[in-house]
Amino acid sequence: MNWNDDAEQAAFRNRVSTFIEERLPDLYRRRIETGEEAALEGFFAWYADRQNPDEDVQAAASEWAGALAENGWVAPHWPEEYGGAGLTAMEQVIFNEEMARAQAPAVGGSGVALLGPTVLVHGTPEQKEKYVGDILSGKVAWAQGYSEPGAGSDLGSLQTRATLDGDEYVINGQKIWTSGAHHADSLFALVRTNPDAPKHRGISFMLIDDIHTPGLNIRPLINAAWKHGFNETFFEDVRVPATNVLGEVDRGWYVGMTLLDYERSNISGAVASRRELDDVFEYAASDEGSAKARNLPSVRAELADRYVETEVGFNFAFRIISMQAAGVIPNYEASTSKMFASELGQRIARTGIKLFGLYSNLWDPDAEYTPYGARFIQNYFHLIPSTIAGGSSEIQRNIIATRGLGLPRG
Ligand SMILES: Cc1cc2nc3c(=O)[nH]c(=O)nc-3n(C[C@H](O)[C@H](O)[C@H](O)COP(=O)(O)OP(=O)(O)OC[C@H]3O[C@@H](n4cnc5c(N)ncnc54)[C@H](O)[C@@H]3O)c2cc1C
Repeated sequence: MNWNDDAEQAAFRNRVSTFIEERLPDLYRRRIETGEEAALEGFFAWYADRQNPDEDVQAAASEWAGALAENGWVAPHWPEEYGGAGLTAMEQVIFNEEMARAQAPAVGGSGVALLGPTVLVHGTPEQKEKYVGDILSGKVAWAQGYSEPGAGSDLGSLQTRATLDGDEYVINGQKIWTSGAHHADSLFALVRTNPDAPKHRGISFMLIDDIHTPGLNIRPLINAAWKHGFNETFFEDVRVPATNVLGEVDRGWYVGMTLLDYERSNISGAVASRRELDDVFEYAASDEGSAKARNLPSVRAELADRYVETEVGFNFAFRIISMQAAGVIPNYEASTSKMFASELGQRIARTGIKLFGLYSNLWDPDAEYTPYGARFIQNYFHLIPSTIAGGSSEIQRNIIATRGLGLPRG
């Protein structure tokens, strides 16, 4: 197996990295250089920037979206006829790898990553016309309302009810962990439209155009790293036109699952782990780093393990990509990659904390004795939910055991 780029792939990689080098707005460059944080993590960072009261931040967000849009790179995985770039699986990987390497923010959030492709598969011509353009231009940002207090891993148990009243559905219930909802304009949600049907057969996929529709209330949840990333979302008689169901009524489970099939390689996680390790090696070798490293001899072997594991993570990601490139839909292989990448991120943070001993407890990145800009301690907290979000490690292990290894269900 040759892991290197062929000539065409190398040329594409060069095109992407040159583009980022030339077009990434100064604001983002500054953030990367200084380690200054965006208001939110991941693809919600761009949502927040779009609405930032500081006009310079808003301008940078729209300048970057415009630059990406020139190449169809807001939605590299979408077909060209809908404004995407129609990239092959391998090109998407190269694109994602270069974006992650440069720490350039993705644009368009879950609208581009999740909802758009699902609308392209299940939407009516009117729905495609209505939603796709606004997602691509960044005019409308979407949040995902799947989980409920009693329905996470067992999502099919969801209870939020939508009852038909004339030509509208009336929604009552509660969602939770709704990431980025406080910066979003719209919400897609799974709701129960038929309480008498078997649990997976009475669910519909609802597009709620205005997240500020009367009766829809969003309350912040602060996570273990003191960040406001997700929310509780309450519905009290929220009225939505009946035409806003995506796909067939009561068949929303299958529409919802289409959405979960996108971006499963975790290549960005593998790139982030490699970058994190390269940075810590450099820091530990510097005068400041070696002066603060307390446990280097005992942690040295662990650092080597993390390095090897990071390369393993790349191979899991490449396995998914090679399957996608061959037109095969990854199954338990995606679970392996997700579980490994998220657990590796946590292990890297733990190793980093050990490296700096008690100094690692310092949270303020600018304090005199804080090692490595507090990155490890902050990552340690920030990454706690990574083995829960998007399907917990236990659920991934169940999938690997039953679908991958053919073990009986417990
Ligand atoms: C950072 C973050 C962002 C999120 N963003 C969103 C979002 O935007 N929109 C959205 O809809 N949801 C979101 N979620 C919710 C996420 O999908 C759920 O947290 C996840 O599916 C787990 O569900 P739960 O929290 O209800 O835990 P539960 O399902 O109650 O699980 C609790 C524990 O039991 C274990 N467990 C459950 N079932 C089994 C089983 N069958 N076998 C073995 N162990 C089991 C789990 O692994 C876990 O350890 C987010 C979550 C996080 C952490």
